[in-house]
Amino acid sequence: MFDRNFDVLIVGGGHGGAQTAIALRQSGFTGTVAIVSDEDDLPYERPPLSKDYLSGQKPLERILIRPARFWADKDVAMLLGRRVVHVDPQAHVAALSDGSSLVYRTLVWAAGGAPRRLACAGGDLAGVHSVRTRADVDRLVDELGRASRVVVIGGGYIGLEAAAVLTKLGQQVTLLEASSRVLARVAGETLSRFYEGEHRAQGVDLRVGVQAARIEGRDGAACGVGLTDSLVIDCEMVIVGIGIAPAVAPLLAAGAAGSDGVDADEYCRTSLPDVFAVGDCAAHVNAFAGGKRIRLECVQNANDQAAVAARSIMGAPQPYVAVPSFWSNQYDLRLQTVGLSAGHDAAVIRGDMASRSFSVVYLENGRVTALDCVNSGKDFMQGRALVAARAAVPPEHLADTSRPLKEIAAEAAI
Ligand SMILES: Cc1cc2nc3c(=O)[nH]c(=O)nc-3n(C[C@H](O)[C@H](O)[C@H](O)COP(=O)(O)OP(=O)(O)OC[C@H]3O[C@@H](n4cnc5c(N)ncnc54)[C@H](O)[C@@H]3O)c2cc1C
Repeated sequence: MFDRNFDVLIVGGGHGGAQTAIALRQSGFTGTVAIVSDEDDLPYERPPLSKDYLSGQKPLERILIRPARFWADKDVAMLLGRRVVHVDPQAHVAALSDGSSLVYRTLVWAAGGAPRRLACAGGDLAGVHSVRTRADVDRLVDELGRASRVVVIGGGYIGLEAAAVLTKLGQQVTLLEASSRVLARVAGETLSRFYEGEHRAQGVDLRVGVQAARIEGRDGAACGVGLTDSLVIDCEMVIVGIGIAPAVAPLLAAGAAGSDGVDADEYCRTSLPDVFAVGDCAAHVNAFAGGKRIRLECVQNANDQAAVAARSIMGAPQPYVAVPSFWSNQYDLRLQTVGLSAGHDAAVIRGDMASRSFSVVYLENGRVTALDCVNSGKDFMQGRALVAARAAVPPEHLADTSRPLKEIAAEAAI
């Protein structure tokens, strides 16, 4: 009746899933481990999809999280091209889309999320793309030769990165952001305005406060984005980057607590017995978000939660306390973020923005909560201690670039 048994069954072969298996083997776990993934590829890094993979600079082999032989050497079974559709938490059974069933001792849910689709008419026309999987990007790149005008919907990191790459590839890019500035969900206004300026300087027609009302089609393919009845932006391709919906339906149907994601405690345990959750889909209480329950969508979180889940499975639990961090590459700008800036009440600019190497330090009630560092790796490295300690530092000290942040951290007795 059951096709196979695994001591640890990992659902999702992205960063969180792959890292859980790696961490288990690194810490000497000798039980059976399998990864079920609905993608056909071995685990690969997702960030290059909107960067070097999209631009053609890195092929799939160079973005694999581990070479193919690693998984065989480490005896991690790869069950690719099938998805978990149902979980029976009492019987410890996961049912797969191919009709098979797997028995698990421990289940790790690392299923990430699916791109949100446009709610407006025309969202399902040919030529409308999202950027979440390697297959998504391959489809997009296949069509690029027939396009010269691309509309990107969404001014978050993925939309902006795609706009940067496609502009460099010679496409005429229009970017539409519904809110009043790009990156509104993740950064302060200063950084948003800086990036808007950079994109415009590179030739992107970037419009904020503008919503797509419909995608116009011709012969079943997108040919424009309608903003109002009379205003249409002609294009051959539309890229939609408006966020993800966490892929947790089978777990919630099985009775797991959660809504936007599946709730996980500080050891990455869900409310279901022997079921852990890590990565983009795990809604957890985060000290750097003022104790709010949030989901983090970044590689750091997926990897660090994977390590926490692995430790719990090994019987040596340690709570998740990592400082959130993120990066984004656009043109020749490398942005590195440490901490979470949502809720800040002051922002200090450190350095000269015109030099395109500077940091924005965010404070809440006089304490450092985050840094956005543009071409400023040193600030990123040294600012982490300030964020970790929520250090109280006078703004004029933070603005003084003659003093390295490590000196300021030392003075704040961290
Ligand atoms: C284009 C792009 C660029 C990014 N850039 C950055 C960046 O620069 N820096 C950064 O820190 N983060 C970046 N991110 C975010 C980062 O990639 C994610 O936070 C990370 O991949 C999360 O890992 P995860 O394991 O939770 O989910 P994922 O990596 O999404 O993996 C989940 C996997 O589970 C599969 N799956 C879903 N449901 C099922 C099911 N029921 N059964 C089986 N398999 C299932 C999915 O198809 C997927 O393969 C980027 C993301 C994208 C899409």
